[in-house]
Amino acid sequence: MFKRILIANRGEIALRIIRCCREMGIETVAVYSTADKDTLPVMLANQSVCIGPAKASDSYLKEDVILAAAMKTGCDAIHPGYGFLSENAGFARKCEENNIAFIGPSAEIIEKMGDKQTARQMMIRSGVPVVPGSDGLIETLEEAKAAAEKIGYPVLIKASAGGGGKGMRKVFSPEELAGAFSTAKEEAKAAFANDDMYMEKLILNPHHVEFQILGDKQGNLIYLGERDCSIQRRNQKLLEESPAWVLSEELREQMGRAAVKAAKAADYYSAGTVEFVLDENGNFYFIEMNTRIQVEHPVTEMLTGVDLLKEQIKIAAGRTLEISQEDVTADGHAIECRINAEAAGKIGQLHFPGGYGVRIDSHLYGGCEVSPYYDSMVAKVIVKGKTRLEAIKRLRRALEELIIEDLKTNAQFMHLLTYHPEFVRGNYNTSFWEKNSETIKKWYEEGFDGQAE
Ligand code: ADP
Ligand code: ADP
Ligand code: MG
Repeated sequence: MFKRILIANRGEIALRIIRCCREMGIETVAVYSTADKDTLPVMLANQSVCIGPAKASDSYLKEDVILAAAMKTGCDAIHPGYGFLSENAGFARKCEENNIAFIGPSAEIIEKMGDKQTARQMMIRSGVPVVPGSDGLIETLEEAKAAAEKIGYPVLIKASAGGGGKGMRKVFSPEELAGAFSTAKEEAKAAFANDDMYMEKLILNPHHVEFQILGDKQGNLIYLGERDCSIQRRNQKLLEESPAWVLSEELREQMGRAAVKAAKAADYYSAGTVEFVLDENGNFYFIEMNTRIQVEHPVTEMLTGVDLLKEQIKIAAGRTLEISQEDVTADGHAIECRINAEAAGKIGQLHFPGGYGVRIDSHLYGGCEVSPYYDSMVAKVIVKGKTRLEAIKRLRRALEELIIEDLKTNAQFMHLLTYHPEFVRGNYNTSFWEKNSETIKKWYEEGFDGQAE
């Protein structure tokens, strides 16, 4: 097993990794930007190293500085968390070359799966259903026009290097194409320094259903159920739950098998997630594979009792997976709600909910600073109930207990969302936000607090 792991990340995921390492008897080294000097990961790691100024490109994305810090502190592995360098094949390769284990799949696998257009072609060859779309990359507006005609409107222009919902534009008619193509391209270039574009049919009102995968270097590969992440704002997830309410047992198994097939196509190992969209007629299509631990991994942990992070670390160290597909059981219902800051600043008092069936993953503490430089997510509230309704009620009361003084967040909005009849019925898809956020905003303005029901 590893002796000392460097955590090339910040915030709640850095804390999650440190906590896991402590339980496993592994030492940790936190790296931090000057803006993160007084954060929990720095305080709780065994050692910490400052790697530069606040801007991520000057700190958390500085591959050589991070590698040097790992070597200097005698680390034998690096955990990249999510975002930042987690899906950067070049960085994974550099780690390998310097005899430091990258906790994730190999550089080769990241290359194959990280480029979404390449992954798409690989899925077609392996017989995993993909959304109808362009045959390869789309370089010019003329090619975009031809592809859109062939696929049929509406279409979705997507960045091959995309992530976090960026570099993506819906196009409903030929008139919108030119504008959408150039803005998506510009956004991709700015966010990923790569403006390779491709096109898919826009599936109307789909569910986002994804499967958690664990695979070891010996070739064992299992799936640990699914998560429905259809509550999204601008293609970015806000609430995730499992089981997915729309799936029949039959469809669940069919999709799970397709997810394993997708991962096998890349000889995948480590923790990973295969994402699908599911249309209104029950057809499902691969959209991408995330080759890292995901934000919403606790949903699956709550339901299956498997510590995904611990398994991911064990796999990176070469251990054989001890869980077989038959061992995977899920009982009850779990929901995660992402709490995002709407502005930066110093917070006052902090009170986190607790009690039966509640888990909070957060790097906040009373009086801490919320930095404007990074992702706005400050906490994840995860609940588990015997039934979906119990989980919803538990989430409501947890959000009612939550106090983050002096910080504007989406918490109240999310609390109201859990009262929306369509949400309560489990009758929602990725259009939910667009369709209902105005109504919820109105409730908010009118002072409805859910208690009247
Ligand atoms: P998940 O797929 O785990 O649900 P998200 O898509 O919400 O996660 O992204 C997780 C985090 O990683 C967010 O902070 C997001 O901004 C960031 N992220 C995801 N993909 C990329 C990428 N390709 N480049 C930069 N940041 C990314
Ligand atoms: P990212 O890398 O940013 O996570 P994804 O390819 O996973 O990008 O897409 C993000 C979200 O956009 C999905 O969760 C889904 O809601 C929506 N989406 C992606 N592809 C399609 C599609 N072809 N049709 C409809 N919605 C889509
Ligand atoms: Mg995605």
